[in-house]
Amino acid sequence: MTALGRASGVRVGGWGDAGRAMRGPPPPLPVLFVVLVAAPGTRAAGYETCPTVQPDMLNVHLLPHTHDDVGWVKTVDQYYYGVQNELHHGAVKNILDSVISALRAEPSRRFVYVEMAFFSRWWHQQTNATQQAVRELVRQGRLEFANGGWVMNDEAATHYGAIVDQMTLGLRFLQDTFGDDGRPRVAWHIDPFGHSREQASLFAQMGFDGIFLGRMDYQDRELRKKKREMELVWRASASLQPPTADLFTGLLSNAYDPPKHLCWDLVCDHDSSMVGDPFSPEDNADVLIDHFLDVATKQWQSYRTNHIVMTMGGDFHYENAHMWFSNLDKLIQLVNAEQQASGSPVHVLYSTPACYLWELNKANLTWSLKEDDFFPYADGPHQFWTGYFSSRPALKRYERVSYNFLQVCKQLEALAAPAANVGPYGSGDSALLEEAMAVLQHHDAITGTSRQLVADDYARRLAAGWGRCEVLLSNALARLSGSQEAFSICPELNISVCPLSQTSARFQVAIYNPLARKVDRMVRLPVSAGAFLVKDPSGHAVPSDVLLLPQPEGQKPSPELLFSASVPALGFSIYSVSRVSLRRSKTHIPQPISQKPGSAVLNIKNEHIRATFNLETGFLMQIEDLEQKLVLPMNQSFFWYKAGTVGQKISQSSGAYIFKPQQQKPLPVSDSAQIHLLKTPLVQEVHQNFSAWCAQVVRLYRGQRHLELEWTVGPIPVGDKWGKEVISRFDMPLDTKGYFYTDSNGREILKRRKKRESRVGENYRPTWNLNQTEPVAGNYYPVNTRIYITDGKKQLTVLTDRSQGGSSLQDGSLELMVHRRLLLDDNRGVGEPLLEEGSGSWVRGRHLVLLDAVGTAAAGHRLLAEKEVLAPQVVLAPSGSALYHPGATRQLQFSGLRRELPPSVHLLTLARWGPQTLLLRLEHQFARGEDSGRNLSSPVTLNLQNLFSTFTITRLQETTLAANQPRASASRLQWNPDTGTTPTPTVPPLDPASITLQPMEIRTFVASVQWEEFAWSHGGDPVQA
Ligand SMILES: [Zn+2]
Repeated sequence: MTALGRASGVRVGGWGDAGRAMRGPPPPLPVLFVVLVAAPGTRAAGYETCPTVQPDMLNVHLLPHTHDDVGWVKTVDQYYYGVQNELHHGAVKNILDSVISALRAEPSRRFVYVEMAFFSRWWHQQTNATQQAVRELVRQGRLEFANGGWVMNDEAATHYGAIVDQMTLGLRFLQDTFGDDGRPRVAWHIDPFGHSREQASLFAQMGFDGIFLGRMDYQDRELRKKKREMELVWRASASLQPPTADLFTGLLSNAYDPPKHLCWDLVCDHDSSMVGDPFSPEDNADVLIDHFLDVATKQWQSYRTNHIVMTMGGDFHYENAHMWFSNLDKLIQLVNAEQQASGSPVHVLYSTPACYLWELNKANLTWSLKEDDFFPYADGPHQFWTGYFSSRPALKRYERVSYNFLQVCKQLEALAAPAANVGPYGSGDSALLEEAMAVLQHHDAITGTSRQLVADDYARRLAAGWGRCEVLLSNALARLSGSQEAFSICPELNISVCPLSQTSARFQVAIYNPLARKVDRMVRLPVSAGAFLVKDPSGHAVPSDVLLLPQPEGQKPSPELLFSASVPALGFSIYSVSRVSLRRSKTHIPQPISQKPGSAVLNIKNEHIRATFNLETGFLMQIEDLEQKLVLPMNQSFFWYKAGTVGQKISQSSGAYIFKPQQQKPLPVSDSAQIHLLKTPLVQEVHQNFSAWCAQVVRLYRGQRHLELEWTVGPIPVGDKWGKEVISRFDMPLDTKGYFYTDSNGREILKRRKKRESRVGENYRPTWNLNQTEPVAGNYYPVNTRIYITDGKKQLTVLTDRSQGGSSLQDGSLELMVHRRLLLDDNRGVGEPLLEEGSGSWVRGRHLVLLDAVGTAAAGHRLLAEKEVLAPQVVLAPSGSALYHPGATRQLQFSGLRRELPPSVHLLTLARWGPQTLLLRLEHQFARGEDSGRNLSSPVTLNLQNLFSTFTITRLQETTLAANQPRASASRLQWNPDTGTTPTPTVPPLDPASITLQPMEIRTFVASVQWEEFAWSHGGDPVQA
């Protein structure tokens, strides 16, 4: 090796001059220091351990990292222990062992770790001495945690409530284990396949100073590189006052990979180690360092400060950490010592995401502002990652139902503690389901992009969590109701299976409502034949119907009992059901309706809505809102896209991640549907049969303000050798001008645009001129809870019961992908086609359709979505049970609230936090200006004193969103968007009697509480002893 060889004068001089001339020197240090100390809300805490940089040089921050998927090709446990390495090499336990040892061996080395699902497990297996050594590494900033969630969650198919839960779980582990030293400053979403705006908003509200992203649309990336807008300020809320939801965002140059030829992990077969021995004929240091400097130079051209980062790691890297680190040690030594000696302005150093961010902040630049999101993601012209929005719909629904059940479980754990955890039914808790739900948020779990065996493992984890929560639920209900029932839930109610109600002549139905206001709900249970008497908690008979519905082939029709229940806020009602006769005379059976050519129609209606069907096709053809006198003709039916295969021109097939239709026009499942009609006093239904694998019930319950479409799809036939991607499509004569609207993780709404106004046929992105190469897949967006279209007067909203992909490809048209079954892998690593067999192949779900005037539409869809996400939990018990304890009085109705919360307020979290503390999150669930009808978008003020009936709040502390730091002392780095800087508002003093929520604001509290003693013998509401 020679100095001449490495110090190419042309290269060094060339970019040194150009680079520095473009950028100008950073502000002098003393000024910065004053700013930091003086400006309220700005601090260097957490950054004081960062490495020294060279202000007049290009500083290349090397970020040693590992990306450890919490399940993907292998299960979580297989990855942790390194089992089945022939499937995919990955052994997280070895990685952490090896990294800690390598960090301890050389003090300049640093490492960043992310996934707490793995780290917490490893931590609990360590000796005290190792734990102490790790604490020291964390204190020194050499082991840095980024993100710190249980997993690195997906952003397209996740609900915001579940994101907040999983982040809270991981960050709590870090806070409990390492205190403020371990609190991540930086969010790190390097692998999720597209990025939602709501995710950025949540991270900002959690107190993160910035985020780094790995994946973005390839066209967007190229343009941003040219414009040097790879780093920006993301304004992630249209409602929250800036800079509350502003998040500094860095787009990594090379996703999360190391530069080409510089990968020094044991899984990088093709890259050579850095030799660095001048006496060896194999010495390659000259070549590698030239290459390194070349890469750094090119990368620098896309960034604005004299700092850049290189991600030195990858999937499950660092199992042999010494291999990576010894090469990096040598690289740093050679570049710094010898390049500097020969005039190179490059300084390379071990660093971390937070330390890089800190340097960007100190540069005190203004940054471009982004207000849309990073969906859809494409890594090539025919590679849109929009299939996973809908992949594995059964798992997506199981996850959503589990979110609902987890909140029920956590609420009861808070309301009935400690009797909920230990009681007549044994020990139960919410912890296992909480962890399972956190794992499900991982970007290969809820997305449906894992292998089948891993998806099965995710479902197994959820089921185990349900088991512990069911025990808790029974204990809590026994405590709160004063009687020991053999409570049980029927997880298969959606397919009309429930052994207890199907075999008993008398039973009880307890319905728990997790919302902070009363709900009315139709309860539907499979029963034995006969007529039934249903009594409400005060002993009054309530109207009920018995329906006899057709079942899939081979299954006996089972009668279903239908009655209307009313349940108080955060509480339960217990109804009793008894068979009064074995006669079947009152049973309602759907009647076949023969098809009629021409203009014959069929209606179903209730007090609010009329739905009309075309008798020639059997399709839904019109919806009317009878009160508002709105009429909307439509055609709703099912279609399928022929899944793309690898062709001569395009080497991309549809798969678990990617949606690549073979043709842009979908094929109808059927030209007509056979229909049956059912009309009872409580419900009217049209049963549509489109094909052997596609059916739908269109339903109107008495009093319901929306139309319910319950679809059943599968198993999708693939015998014709075509993978199929099935959609439900609504076509309406609405002039929507190319716009439609989708929710972001179930919270704020984003306006989507299919085409540019002036140039018909061209497609649109808010921040660049799109060259659209996939007119269907490239216009698909994630729909977590709702999608809508409007012509400015009428609005048609469809709520989903799980995450799906959706779009509006023509004016007045709206489609949702309900299921997909594919014969090929899409070559993104999972290595298996999405060919679900068994339980995942047959899927039932619901679309709730709302027709409204634009001004009142938000009230409808916000409140209905809340009721769907936190639906009442139905629990059954046989009649005739023991009292909870002698002298107890049975309580057939209970509310955990002394007064309901107003409709704009959502109780996002009520959970046990510590022995005497609870976690409480209150959310304003309307966006600014969204509701012009009922004023639901106004700020709302609550009194938390004496709000809850089973405990008293003795002390209240407000925290950031993930509850890992007090709000009063939390502060974030300030960034200047090019639209002007907004100072961080001061935090007002906390008054539990007057908590104000602004539109879309979430406030998080840790409440010290005292549980009331229940005086059962007095009857009535539980009262203080
Ligand atoms: Zn990943």
